[in-house]
Amino acid sequence: MKLLLIMPSGSIHRHRSGNFKKVLRYAPLTLTTLAALVPANLGAEIRLIDEGVEPVPNDFDADLVGINAITGTAPRAYAIADRARSQGCTVVLGGVHPTLLPDEALLHSDAIVTGFAEQAWPQLLHDFSEGRMKRVYRAPSNPSLEGLPTPRRDLLCKNAYITVNSVYASRGCPNRCGFCVIPVAWGQRAYLRPIHEVIHEIEALDGRDLVLIDPNLIANRPYARQLFREMAPLRRRWYGLATTEITDDKELFDLLVRSGCKGLFIGFESVSQSTLNRINKGFNPVHRYKEIVRRLHDRGIAVQGAFVFGFDNDDPSVFERTVEVVAELKIDLPRYSVFTPFPGTPVFNRLSSQQRIFEKDWSLYDAQHVVFRPNRMTAEQLQEGLYRAWLETYKLSSIARRIVASRCTPLVSIAANLGYKYYAAKLSQFDNRTLVESNNDTHKDHAHHARSRVQTG
Ligand code: SF4
Repeated sequence: MKLLLIMPSGSIHRHRSGNFKKVLRYAPLTLTTLAALVPANLGAEIRLIDEGVEPVPNDFDADLVGINAITGTAPRAYAIADRARSQGCTVVLGGVHPTLLPDEALLHSDAIVTGFAEQAWPQLLHDFSEGRMKRVYRAPSNPSLEGLPTPRRDLLCKNAYITVNSVYASRGCPNRCGFCVIPVAWGQRAYLRPIHEVIHEIEALDGRDLVLIDPNLIANRPYARQLFREMAPLRRRWYGLATTEITDDKELFDLLVRSGCKGLFIGFESVSQSTLNRINKGFNPVHRYKEIVRRLHDRGIAVQGAFVFGFDNDDPSVFERTVEVVAELKIDLPRYSVFTPFPGTPVFNRLSSQQRIFEKDWSLYDAQHVVFRPNRMTAEQLQEGLYRAWLETYKLSSIARRIVASRCTPLVSIAANLGYKYYAAKLSQFDNRTLVESNNDTHKDHAHHARSRVQTG
């Protein structure tokens, strides 16, 4: 059996046409995990394509093509799926978007996998090999992350990434921040891998650096404490994601530092406490942001801070205020996005019932394009404000001030900041629609996808 696994990219990140180059990429885990789950007795020949670093071929030499889709890449995934099917391949779609909108994904595939793939995907492959594949494979209600095979990193284009050492210890998140798709897609809880299996996987990695891609590493604190305790003797340097609560618990924070953490992605989201309270993220204390960042910097941990514009409380003054606070906090690598109501979530349904969704081209659901009418400003003000915030924060003088003040991992910070500066400059000129069409997908295809989405969304 010839198996081709594809992760499509949104046009802004796509190989050659995209903005981010090698220096800012770590290898995604989805494809390598799916490859590892292929039952050995099928004797499958497996090829992986991450479209962020390698183009998708025009001709598919495969019996089965598996495609992973998030909302922003769904139209691209559908275009690839349609082409593969027209060439006689069987196509399976999976990932967050097919999980949230299964009926839509079924229009472009022979089968879909919803939820986690660990149990459903091997079953699907068995059924396919015996000629009795079903249309829908769902994850069990309580999926296990125990005893999973090691991701097939050997199948990746190694030189295309800053590191192929991406690992996860947990999935999901018990919080329910109003804009986040994770608890909606995977359930409001954290799923944990046995710690000894995570440690064993890390021990086997080449090189000292790794990225822990868990959406919220400290979701289960006793688990996080034990994980950090067992990571410390490995003497690795790692980067990951946590919430602003990370510095509150002294024991947990000390263990995180000793485990080799060198950088954290933290969702600050807003500089307004009332906004945070309204979006169920009241645990982010705006009055303590400065102290939190300082504590992280004091222990040598760089901060990638995420901020979102366009919440119902936000008015046009939000951009300038946020840019000022970001500069004051000395965040090493700030990141801005616009509030995005992902289809299949309650917030999408609410805005839809208020007639506030004006864009149903999912390729624009990339958190950088405004797709709904904000409450206290126009969509144009929101879009322009986002661009301005990026450009202001990534002026050379602003970059220099932040890096000098932080002094954490300066070389990584300089490279990442220059990458983001390039991204900020390109962002406002970048129109996903023109690129979708220029990447071998005809306008007709695109219009057809847009129509089918409107009908099912
Ligand atoms: S803490 Fe992070 S991962 Fe968890 S729901 Fe909030 S935004 Fe999502």
